[in-house]
Parts: sequence; C-alpha cells; structure tokens
Amino acid sequence: MSIAENLLSIKNTLPEQVTLVAVSKTKPIPDLMEAYDAGQRIFGENKIQEMESKWEQMPKDIQWHMIGHVQTNKVKFMTPFVSLIHGVDSFKLLKEINKQALKNNRVIDCLLQMHIAEEETKFGLDDEELNSLLASSEFQEMKNIRITGLMGMATFTDNKEQIKKEFMHLKSIFDKLQIQQTDSFQLTTLSMGMSGDYKLAIECGSTMVRIGSSIFGGRN
Ligand SMILES: *Cc1c(COP(=O)(O)O)cnc(C)c1O
Repeated sequence: MSIAENLLSIKNTLPEQVTLVAVSKTKPIPDLMEAYDAGQRIFGENKIQEMESKWEQMPKDIQWHMIGHVQTNKVKFMTPFVSLIHGVDSFKLLKEINKQALKNNRVIDCLLQMHIAEEETKFGLDDEELNSLLASSEFQEMKNIRITGLMGMATFTDNKEQIKKEFMHLKSIFDKLQIQQTDSFQLTTLSMGMSGDYKLAIECGSTMVRIGSSIFGGRN
C-alpha cells in the first residue's frame, strides 16, 4: 500500500478523540508530502536539526512535534516553530524551553515524559521527580511553557499484559493529576502508542498516538 493509503486506513480506525502524529523521522520530504497531500498536518520527528530542515522546506500549516530525547543546548533551534515537545524529562530541560520560548515571545506546549517501562534505558521522570517538579515554585513561575499532558513509552516486548500494565499506570497518573489544574498545567493529552501497540494504548486511554513505520514503512 502507498503512504497515503496506509495513513487513511489508520486514520479510519482511530476514535474521534485520538490525534495522529505521523512519525516521519529519517524519511525524505517527498514521503512526508505524500502524507501531507492526503491531509496529514501533524508530523513527529526525533532529531531537532532534521525537524528544522523539514520545517524550512515544507508548507507552513504543519504542526511539528518533537518526540525524541532533547538535548538542552539544541532547544533554541526549534523554539521558533515547534508545536509540541513530547519528551520533557527534566527540570533543566523545561527551564531551557521556558527561557528560549520567552526570547521568541511564545508559550510552548510540552508533555512530561514519564518512565513507565521496565527498561533502564528509556527516558522519563519517575513519580517522585514529577511531584517535586510540580511542587517547585520555580515551575509555578514559568510563564512561557504550558504542560498539556503526559507521554510514555512501554517496554519493547511481545508481552501484551506487561505493555497494558505500563499504559494503565501512565493513565492512572494522568487521571490523578486532573485535580491540579492551573493556567500552565492542564492535562488534556496522553501521548502513548506507536505502530506496534497503539490499539492497546487507545484501549488504555491514549489521546495521541505516534505512528511511523505503519505509515511510512520500515526505517534503516
Ligand atoms: C520512532 C518513534 C515512534 C514511532 O515508532 P513506529 O514503531 O515506527 O511507529 C514513536 N514514538 C517515539 C518516541 C519514537 O521515537
């Protein structure tokens, strides 16, 4: 099937409240344009320079999501245009995003990435780090970021029960935090689910799925 056909067939299965991020990392512009021409306007990339270069070359009504791990020293390259940063996993990073957003006179939407997988290697905050971040006065004074949700990645395994347990854990944190709403902290987005596990993620309450290979084909 073509990229457009893949995209549309996935879109047709998604419930109305679930947003599709087309993960286009490593793929060339013509592939992204095929998805664009089929109506897709949200693209996810995991490298800042690659996202910047694609942003420069592509139509300006695209919303660019940074889904990868972000190095603090590269934040400034995406602050003029990024629409949502999924992988905010430290206070230091959040401070830098706030600082660069201020320079650009913007308020940038961010998701806090939670560590839900068993693997040590996956990035993310644990419960304690999340609580201390939210409680800090420094966080409460940040005016140029808005936390709009949480993001998480399940363990890379075939064990559906385990993946489900991890997604349910993230959903329970998301639900618990609903009572703490402020102007800069309003959790509406739960970003979980990729090509292999997005159906399960939706069953567990995902509102945003990040799908790459099932749309664009495998990556090298
Ligand atoms: C690459 C990537 C995806 C998409 O993965 P697929 O399995 O190709 O759908 C989703 N989320 C993150 C954070 C990624 O890095």
